[in-house]
Amino acid sequence: MIDAQVIKTLGKELGIDEIKITTAEPFGRAAARIIRQKKAGLYLNSERWHHRNIEEFCDVWSVLSTAKSIIAACQCYLTDEPIDTGAPGDPHGLVARYTWRNHYSDLKKRLQMLATSIKERQSVECVVYSNGVIAEKPIAERSGIGYYGKNSLIINKRFGSLVVLGEIVTNADIEPDSASNADCGECLECIEACPTRAIIEPYVIDRRRCIQALTNWYGVLQDDIARVWENRLYGCTTCQDVCPANHHVKAGRPRTDIGYVGQSISLLEILTMDEAQYRKKFTGNQMTARWINFKAIQRNAIIALGNVRDKKTLPTLEKLTKSSDPVHAHSAQWAINNF
Ligand code: SF4
Ligand code: SF4
Repeated sequence: MIDAQVIKTLGKELGIDEIKITTAEPFGRAAARIIRQKKAGLYLNSERWHHRNIEEFCDVWSVLSTAKSIIAACQCYLTDEPIDTGAPGDPHGLVARYTWRNHYSDLKKRLQMLATSIKERQSVECVVYSNGVIAEKPIAERSGIGYYGKNSLIINKRFGSLVVLGEIVTNADIEPDSASNADCGECLECIEACPTRAIIEPYVIDRRRCIQALTNWYGVLQDDIARVWENRLYGCTTCQDVCPANHHVKAGRPRTDIGYVGQSISLLEILTMDEAQYRKKFTGNQMTARWINFKAIQRNAIIALGNVRDKKTLPTLEKLTKSSDPVHAHSAQWAINNF
């Protein structure tokens, strides 16, 4: 058995904010919940793991059949940088805070170094993930990294939901931690603040209405959703912005510049780029991950222009109404009508 405390100390030395351990048993309850919600039609087809076998998704034995433990980690991404929304004539679209840099890659690198240190001490196998296709939130919950908020995000006692998650799946035998016994209590702030009413009941998100999920869904947005889209280009954080668990989190200086894109991006620039230029300019960021639909990002930019209503952008929108892309043409007409 490897001493859990040794792993936590090594993790701390590598700049990982928090480490907890859980066992490798499948997450049956999480699988049943996801299957139930999929059957109810609450997921979008564009979600990258949508077509994956859910039981496998919730079972780390599908990635390492000899796994005995999961080392779960979280890294806070809150920084004290101001938010830039662009200048008149060049409105910017907001990038969700967790996407300003690629914190997943940063955490994964740190976890890879931790895995190397563990393997130097004992002959074991380790598979490292962050933003990977395994059930990260159920792992974080059972290990005690955090508890589920009613917005369905994991809330860490120290860093709130302002964390990215990562894991090392290993065949090492490590003493597990217990799940957190904290919860949201009577709070309903996220449910009340969600602009599209996507949190249909505590812990249940209708992802067909969730802006975060729709960011990468290519299609024509419903009018009631487009109207409250504001100037979002990528992601939505409203249910985190209002969450009292995040209000005490101390902002720090950025700890990585991997895949830096900044707080906002010129909407007109997004609309004049082709996909190759977009992927080159924002390389390394999750906004250019292979499952990201560039046409959906451009659709977001068009909807954002319709909400910002800067007259100098009208010629671009008028041109887009004649686009051969029917979603873009429809969205541009919607944007002009919304002026
Ligand atoms: S991410 Fe935005 S749209 Fe989705 S549940 Fe949270 S507040 Fe609602
Ligand atoms: S806003 Fe309130 S209910 Fe929602 S996740 Fe935060 S603490 Fe929980």
